[in-house]
Amino acid sequence: MITEQKNITCIACPRGCRLELIPGAEGSEAQIRGYECPKGLAYGQREAVEALRILTSTVKTCSAEMPRLPVRLSEPVPLDRFREFMDLINSFLAVEDCKPGDVLVRDFGMPGVNLQATGELHYEN
Ligand code: SF4
Repeated sequence: MITEQKNITCIACPRGCRLELIPGAEGSEAQIRGYECPKGLAYGQREAVEALRILTSTVKTCSAEMPRLPVRLSEPVPLDRFREFMDLINSFLAVEDCKPGDVLVRDFGMPGVNLQATGELHYEN
């Protein structure tokens, strides 16, 4: 929950409205200003409680041809835990063939969050 006013850009559609998130008094719900539609209000409310983002990165492989494999997390995760997720990603080594969408690790750092390949990896036999 935010404790001070925050200005953010709504990313729920390409219009990119500027949202003001104003903390509520004594634990009450934050006030959201600047949204143009219900999706923007919902986005602002979520961001006021906990900022979530999809994390994309790359992992190491054993392939000389493709030393890094693009990956992403299957679900948005708290922004303030990105460092922790990056440590897990940096310690992962992709040792098997995979294609975009393949799950490399289930429950990766958090229940219900999977590490997924977004690129293709083929090892020569
Ligand atoms: S508030 Fe509504 S119209 Fe504005 S960017 Fe968000 S989703 Fe789009």
